[in-house]
Amino acid sequence: MARATKPAQTRTAPCPICGKAVEAAFKPFCSKRCADVDLNRWLNGAYVIAGEAVDETPPANGVMRDLHED
Ligand SMILES: [Zn+2]
Repeated sequence: MARATKPAQTRTAPCPICGKAVEAAFKPFCSKRCADVDLNRWLNGAYVIAGEAVDETPPANGVMRDLHED
């Protein structure tokens, strides 16, 4: 059995942004900067998804109705 090379200093997972030790005040990040980075990623992702959804128009409108009425 191989022992873990990481020091058992922190039980929490490392910062998902930079991999550094997580600071309790900025959980689950190591700093406010990394928290902001993650927040911006979420906001950008949500914005993109929302934009695509609005832009995308379902062309199979008549097909679905055709399937419904027999
Ligand atoms: Zn970080």
